[in-house]
This record gives sequence, structure tokens and C-alpha cells, in this order.
Amino acid sequence: MTGVIIIGAGQAGLQAAASARDEGYAGAITLIGAETAPPYQRPPLSKAYLKGEMDDEGLELRGADFYAESNIDLRTGVRAETIDCAARRVTLSGGEIVPYEKLVLAMGAVNRPLNIAGADLDAVMFLRGLTDAQAIKAAVSGARRAVVIGAGFIGLEFAAVAAGKGLDVTVVEMAPRVMGRALSAAMSDFFAQQHRAMGVTLRLGAGVQAIAGENGRATGVVLTSGEELPADLVLVGIGVLPDIALAEHAGLETADGVVVNETLHTSDPDIFAIGDLSLHPTRFAPRPVRLESVQNAIDQGRAVGATLAGKHTSYDKVPWFWSDQGPFKLQMAGLNMDCDQAVLRGDPASGAFSVFSFRGGVLAGVDSVNKPADHLGARKILTNRAAITPQQAADEAFDLRRAT
Ligand SMILES: Cc1cc2nc3c(=O)[nH]c(=O)nc-3n(C[C@H](O)[C@H](O)[C@H](O)COP(=O)(O)OP(=O)(O)OC[C@H]3O[C@@H](n4cnc5c(N)ncnc54)[C@H](O)[C@@H]3O)c2cc1C
Repeated sequence: MTGVIIIGAGQAGLQAAASARDEGYAGAITLIGAETAPPYQRPPLSKAYLKGEMDDEGLELRGADFYAESNIDLRTGVRAETIDCAARRVTLSGGEIVPYEKLVLAMGAVNRPLNIAGADLDAVMFLRGLTDAQAIKAAVSGARRAVVIGAGFIGLEFAAVAAGKGLDVTVVEMAPRVMGRALSAAMSDFFAQQHRAMGVTLRLGAGVQAIAGENGRATGVVLTSGEELPADLVLVGIGVLPDIALAEHAGLETADGVVVNETLHTSDPDIFAIGDLSLHPTRFAPRPVRLESVQNAIDQGRAVGATLAGKHTSYDKVPWFWSDQGPFKLQMAGLNMDCDQAVLRGDPASGAFSVFSFRGGVLAGVDSVNKPADHLGARKILTNRAAITPQQAADEAFDLRRAT
């Protein structure tokens, strides 16, 4: 029986399958995953799993019985090789051809390659999947000096864990501030200070020229200035690229992601794209965005699951994200891009505060550290399109629940 094929058995793909069933879809569901592990959560890979506080089983998104009980045909270790949109069928690695009525693309993202000499040496590591995390965990236990290339979320989460394990850690970042692509300047500065206090050396505004090595193994990172930072482990965290090749070859519209509309349909009405892969319109940003977050993967999976079950659903959820670095829980709601005003709520010196960012006088994004009530309040304000002024946001006596 033809039914739904979902390519990519990650957070988004699994959620689409589960939600389609929850919403009453009765047709066949085939969930195809290139990785051999059953669907698992990625966030702990750079946090609890790396620290040794969570094992492989703890990462799994659903128990082994879930797939049979939900009548979801999970095929792990299988890659979708091509899509024939006209004939509505997918060719799998191994040669099997499977027809579909509706197709969901949830292939996620792949690590951005590091195109410099020495990038292929041993002990140069990238973190995206479980096998990467297993290798990094093993390498950390034998390492003394780590250099992290890129001060994004994954680089800094790794830095905090590695410093906590007693490694000498240096983070090299080309931009002038940490997590600069996503965070307000005040929050970025706070995290830079805290990482320094945790013993991490930050080299901001510094480019990397090459990775030096001996006998096939990395021994250091060479900056564009010529300076060499010694390292026995190099963690590369320079971001990801959406895995669009399959969609591109199938003739679907792509840009920085697979282009979808507000119902998450691609340029082919029988094909959806969700999660890290989807470039989607949103009322929370002045232009379409591609978001790399669990919230986005889950909520888009839910929306497509409902649509598959015949409940035509538009996607309109508030983006939110978190990151744990040392004792600090960073939470973000909304999107900060193109903001022209930011106010502090609380005192950074206290270690718990928020930054409220406004675009044209309207609240657009809120970064909070160790302030869960501010984060939840912000999500509610953004969901309800409630009005709040910069003065109210900056006044800790103003109850966020009063914004209307
Ligand atoms: C180390 C790490 C830490 C993170 N921490 C956080 C965090 O703290 N908070 C947060 O909100 N987000 C975090 N994220 C991001 C979050 O995990 C992702 O946004 C989320 O996993 C995206 O889900 P997805 O299903 O779109 O993609 P993925 O989870 O990447 O799943 C895509 C799957 O598709 C498979 N695939 C690709 N091509 C094919 C093919 N042709 N055939 C079959 N299968 C294919 C891939 O192998 C992969 O398993 C983190 C990510 C990483 C890597």
C-alpha cells in the first residue's frame, strides 16, 4: 500500500510519523534513517552525554516497542538515494524503489566542511551525530589541550565540558564576539566573561590558517597571524549546512534550505520539508528562516503530522532554543535578527538576567540566563502578540504576565 515516506529519522522525521498516527492517519508510514542508531536526541551529545551523565539508551527518543505499536516501518541504516517527483517514488540504497502518496523531507543538516590544510588529520573532530560524540568522548579522556574552532553553541558547550574535565581549552573565533549570530551583544559578553572564569581562553577576532600535525595526527592550530596554538584535540564547530542535495536533484526549490510555504509544503504539493532543512516564512522574522532547534523540529513535525491526517495546518510557533554551558542555562525566545533596540532586565553581575530586543518598537527576541520565568513570559507575549514597551521590559517590578 502506498502511503507516507519520511526521509530522515531524526527529531523532526520521527515527530511527523508519531503525530500523523496521533492525529488519526491510518495509511502506511515508512521512516527511513541513514544512521544505524534508532532515532535519538542530539542536544545531550555536547552536554550530559559528553560529561558521562547519560548513556546511549538515554538518548533514544522512543522505546523499541513504539515503532511496532504505532505501525511505523522504521528502516535504519538505509539512505534515500533519489526522488522521482513525477512518478512519486524514492530509490533507497540497496536499490529498492518505494512509491509514496506524500513525502516528508527531514534530512537535517551536515557539518560545514573546514577547507584548510590539516583538516583531515586524526584528532580533528566534528560533532553532529552519535558516532562523532562517542569518538570525541573517548578522545577527551586522553587529551590535555583542546583547541575549539568556532565560538557557536556546540563549540562553547564542548569547551565548558572539556574545561570541567580539566583540559586546557582555547576557543578561536573569527567574529568579535561569541555566539554572535544568534545572541544579543550583552548576553554574548556575559558568556564570554563566564567562559574565561571557567578557565577557557578565548581568542576572538582570530582566523585559522591550517592545522599542524605530525605522523598524521593534529598537534596544533595555526592562526592567520602565524601563531600556533598547541593541541592534542581540535574540535571544529563552525556550523552546519542544510542537507539539500537530494531535494535539489529532485528539482525542488532550494536556497539555504528547502523552500517551503506556511503549511510546510515544498514547491511540489505532495512533498513537505521540516526541521533543520526547511527554509520557512515566519511572522517572527522579516524574511524566511531556517532554524536549527529541537522546538522547530518538533513543532514542524507536529504540523505536518496533522496535515497528513487531513487537518490542514499552518505553522506559526514561537521559535525557542536553549543551551547549557557550565552552570548557566541560556534560553532564547523569538528571533533577534535586525533588532534596533535592546534593554536589560536584571543585573548581569547577579548571573541571572534577560535581554529584551525590539524591532521597530515591537518585541522580537528575548535571551535569558538562569531566568526561566522571563523566558516563559517572553514566549507567552510573543505567542499572544501582546504589547510590551522597552521601559516595561526593563522594569523587574513589571509582571510580564500583565503584558496584553
Ligand atoms: C551536538 C548538538 C547539540 C545540540 N543542542 C541543541 C540544544 O541544546 N537545543 C536545541 O534546541 N537544539 C540543539 N541542537 C539542534 C537540534 O538537535 C537539531 O535542530 C535537530 O536535531 C534537528 O532535527 P532534524 O530532524 O531536522 O535533523 P536531524 O536530527 O539532523 O535528523 C536528520 C536525519 O536524517 C538523516 N538523513 C539525512 N539524509 C538522509 C537520506 N538521504 N536518507 C535517509 N536518512 C537521511 C540523517 O542521518 C539524520 O539522522 C543540537 C544539535 C547538535 C548536533
